[in-house]
Amino acid sequence: MSAHHALEKLAHCRPEWKPWLTVLAAALENIDDHAWDAVVPSRGTQSGSDAPKLANAEVCVDRDALERVYASLARVVEKLGAPGVATLGTSTQVDALELFTAALNHDSAKLATLASTTTVHSDMLHALAAMVAMPFLHACNRQWVESQPAWSRGYCPVCGAWPAFAEVRGVERSRYLRCGNCGGEWEASCLSCAYCGTTDHDELASLVPEDKRSAAVIEVCRRCLGYLKVFTRLQGTEASQVMVDDLASAELDVAAIERGYKRVRGGGYALEVQVAEKRASRD
Ligand SMILES: [Zn+2]
Ligand SMILES: [Zn+2]
Repeated sequence: MSAHHALEKLAHCRPEWKPWLTVLAAALENIDDHAWDAVVPSRGTQSGSDAPKLANAEVCVDRDALERVYASLARVVEKLGAPGVATLGTSTQVDALELFTAALNHDSAKLATLASTTTVHSDMLHALAAMVAMPFLHACNRQWVESQPAWSRGYCPVCGAWPAFAEVRGVERSRYLRCGNCGGEWEASCLSCAYCGTTDHDELASLVPEDKRSAAVIEVCRRCLGYLKVFTRLQGTEASQVMVDDLASAELDVAAIERGYKRVRGGGYALEVQVAEKRASRD
């Protein structure tokens, strides 16, 4: 099933989510734009085995291209006028280059500062910033997926983000973590917490949904109070569909949060990506 098809299915099952799904559909269109492949930098200068590929990278990006991505999302949000998504204001208020840089670096303090200088609600700006960075991050994942080294960290080997969920795949039941920002995937141990790394069995537990037919569980860590949604499926979902699957399973997030666990957002590594504005070439 394609990401667009999954989104349509979700809109059918959850008509009340339609405003937000419309924004997500615009984000999917941007991810499909492979022109971003040309923006992928050479690998960063990191040497440590715990550094994601984007660490210390220098990204040279066309401001107009970023503004087009931002405007495509802002237009949809402004048109909706629905509760919770109506606080965007005019799209010219936000510097798309600053937004992009803050999103790549998981810099929530910078995003909060950017939000405070506009009429944009802070949560909305965080969500928009992630979607502005997605076309570039998905391009990075596409180009770097072949050269993926063995990776044992809980955060994404491409962009450093914490996982959106885990997948237990096929008859071998191999376990993969999935990134909602770049669509990346990496094989991971089920014996440790993705966030704090504890291997203490007394600290790790599963919350099983009441519906016994469900192919999902929530794994929790009593040490750091992080949780992870885990889906059993035959194959991994496609990269562009990760954010759709994440949203479609929002009831699991609600269940975990109601039990005192927290969704771990942002990233697990200080990437320090440098972003420069691409200047028009002069003949
Ligand atoms: Zn990632
Ligand atoms: Zn933990």
